[in-house]
Amino acid sequence: MSLIPSFFSRNGRDAKPPPLGADGPLTLMAIMAHPDDIDFGSAGSIAKWCAEGWTVYYVLATSGDKGTHDDLSRQELAAMREEEQRAAARVLGVKEVVFLGYPDGFVSVTAELRGEIVRLLRKYKPDVVLTFDGFRPSFNHNDHRNIGIATRDAIYPAVRDHLYFAEHAAEGLEAHRVNEMLLVGSTAPDYFVDVSDYIETKVDAMLCHASQISTHDRDVLLKRMRERGRRRGGRGLVESFKRERIVRAPQPAPADEPQPASASQPEPTPVGGERSRS
Ligand SMILES: [Zn+2]
Repeated sequence: MSLIPSFFSRNGRDAKPPPLGADGPLTLMAIMAHPDDIDFGSAGSIAKWCAEGWTVYYVLATSGDKGTHDDLSRQELAAMREEEQRAAARVLGVKEVVFLGYPDGFVSVTAELRGEIVRLLRKYKPDVVLTFDGFRPSFNHNDHRNIGIATRDAIYPAVRDHLYFAEHAAEGLEAHRVNEMLLVGSTAPDYFVDVSDYIETKVDAMLCHASQISTHDRDVLLKRMRERGRRRGGRGLVESFKRERIVRAPQPAPADEPQPASASQPEPTPVGGERSRS
């Protein structure tokens, strides 16, 4: 464990950072609990990012093998949900979908899950990770909360320190840093993506999750989306996230090193004569 943290996390209190992707396409990994978790909330953003040249990977902890009232076995349901998710990912331009195979409803924050996430982060090297806000204070699904926390724990400090899950080195996987997270389901979102131009692609992706949506009528879904955009005073449809950044803190120089003069370092103010050394 590091005694002195080499980074700090900063949010809305600091100067607003540039939007993600301002300097060119990024690699993003979305790590969620169930098939449809990513697409229902974020498919517009995923479509936009893919259209802008980003490389996007999906990781699903479960295959959604319990959420049905139909007469299907868990295996049948899982196979169907996985195929629905792959179809939606194809619509959006996602490069690859990985299923971790945990049982629906029983995702726990374990060292095993953290290690699997670390391994994938080291393999695919994303710049940005999208996941659930595991610390959302209001009601939350067990799997959503736990995949969010396990993912956060994988990002700091495990993935960046090679002695965590050192066995990955045998596969040629090296330590990696992820400095940006987008959290879904936060009660305090602060990062908004205008997806007005990607509503049709989002609806097409949602329609792929045929076993999980209330209507399969494309026009009805499109109308709902556009009405939602209109309710925002005609400002279009947005998807909301909480952005968390990991920024390296300036390291203090050793005490015996001369300090450079700087305009930001005020001169000591004498109080009642010469200032005593301290
Ligand atoms: Zn879910």
